[in-house]
Amino acid sequence: MKPTKVSLNAQGVEREELPVDVCIVGAGTAGLACAIHLSKLLKEAGDDERTILVLDKAEELGHHTLSGAVMDPKGIAELFPDWKERGFPILSEVKDDWAEMLRPGGGSTKLKGVLCPPPLRNHGNYIVSLNEVVKWMAGQAEEAGVEIYAGFPVAETRFEDRTDKVIGVQTRDSGIAKDGSQKATFEPGMDVTADVTVFAEGVRGNLAKNLFRRLDVMDGKNPQTYGTGIKEIWEVSPEVGKEMHGKVMHTGAYPLDMKSYGGSWVYGIAEDKLSIGFVVGLDHPDAKLDPHGLFVKWKQHPKIARLLEGGKPINYGAKCVPEGGFYSQPRLHGDGFVLVGDTAGFLNAATLKGIHLSIKSGILAAEAIAKSLKAGDTSKAGLESYQETYEASWARAEMFKYRNYRQAMAKGMVKGGIDFAVQMITGGRGLVARRPGHNDHETMEPVSKSKMSPVKYDDRASMDKLTDVYLSGAIHEEDQPAHLLVNDPSICTDRCTKEFGNPCQHFCPAAVYEWPEGSAAVTINASNCVHCKTCDIMDPYENIEWVVPEGGGGPKYLGM
Ligand code: SF4
Repeated sequence: MKPTKVSLNAQGVEREELPVDVCIVGAGTAGLACAIHLSKLLKEAGDDERTILVLDKAEELGHHTLSGAVMDPKGIAELFPDWKERGFPILSEVKDDWAEMLRPGGGSTKLKGVLCPPPLRNHGNYIVSLNEVVKWMAGQAEEAGVEIYAGFPVAETRFEDRTDKVIGVQTRDSGIAKDGSQKATFEPGMDVTADVTVFAEGVRGNLAKNLFRRLDVMDGKNPQTYGTGIKEIWEVSPEVGKEMHGKVMHTGAYPLDMKSYGGSWVYGIAEDKLSIGFVVGLDHPDAKLDPHGLFVKWKQHPKIARLLEGGKPINYGAKCVPEGGFYSQPRLHGDGFVLVGDTAGFLNAATLKGIHLSIKSGILAAEAIAKSLKAGDTSKAGLESYQETYEASWARAEMFKYRNYRQAMAKGMVKGGIDFAVQMITGGRGLVARRPGHNDHETMEPVSKSKMSPVKYDDRASMDKLTDVYLSGAIHEEDQPAHLLVNDPSICTDRCTKEFGNPCQHFCPAAVYEWPEGSAAVTINASNCVHCKTCDIMDPYENIEWVVPEGGGGPKYLGM
């Protein structure tokens, strides 16, 4: 694929223009499923001259992908009925599962068999590494003729003049110095022009965020609500490795109180490795909420510490997840675009699963795109069949079944738990037909009300944030404009310090924001950023904006 022409913009920067039929932003499971299925449909229709381009900001595919992960195979089996024969990377079939409620004193209550909450039963599911899944899917996509460009962050959505029709994207310039000047390595971003643009950026994508502000896709919907997930992979003792291999344990309660939403996982991913992680809802009111600190406290609980004894962590990462569910999903299409995967809220927070839903969204979007290309109508009306087929699909039925789950749980574990029990016997309705939602950044209380106790980093299992950042492989070119924009620095010093105690120093899981004692301004260690998006979501004044850094910057997740 070659750029066809060069255009000169108002700043005198020459940009190559790359025309394609379909541009997919983000090489996660949703974007790649869309690419693979669309390629297949076009070939079947004898329309195989079309160009499908996938752009991803990670230097290598999978480097920015993170999940627990236990996968419901429904999605991948629909994309590839012979997924196992094709060599899909499975770490283990789930052999056993249970939930455990941890008590502060060190004890716990095990909920197994019929006592295990139904959404946490995982028989028939598979433990996978999402990194490996994405690499494998990218290979399948390339074999099918899809073009994939890694290391190409997308800076902007392009709109037709004076309309809201999406006509493609612009990739980010590289080789710009901190002061905005062009370095010798300067490379202008490309103008990609596409009949259909697929936003598959993952959670809280910078393009989708602006698209949602500009268009009416969230009209009548609940605001999306998020959780921050922290994950480590551990090499563990042979005894623990064998004991846990193929097993799935979820925990609740400690270190959270009964008013907070969150929980954890321990997955036996190999005979010598565990995947462990902790998720906390970002509607938590405490201004000192520290997802990484809670993860450390959880690891210090005797039930978890026993599993980690004698082991060592080898990978670390963090990522937000869209937990709002059915009523927080945007309209899935508009003029010249569709929304898939986490970008469109395809996650079942109750079962802690989204891979199958993301793949299904990619499949349904591909079918609508193929139809719209054939009809020569990629307008909102031409892409309408995506929304219609979703409404008739098993994915919608699953999302609808849990439609009030997360909003009920915002009332706390006791009230939320009662409502959820009623939801299970009323087809998902619960005590209220439709529970309203809220923006996470509106829920924070003044720092004077904070109850968070400090974290004690006291043994090898309790690494601080910087040690963990090292394990994430996060790195960025230092001499580039900030990718974490503080819109109004005076808010930080004049209001936030007094009202919320500068919560960014607590909620960021990568020690990016520092307020040294007596300092009048924040220090931003942007190079540490693992692209989790917590700051973009949780800042109480919406004063922090995450934008894409230069290509290749960010974490380098392996096996995550
Ligand atoms: Fe996450 Fe923001 Fe910290 Fe980056 S700076 S790791 S996006 S909270």
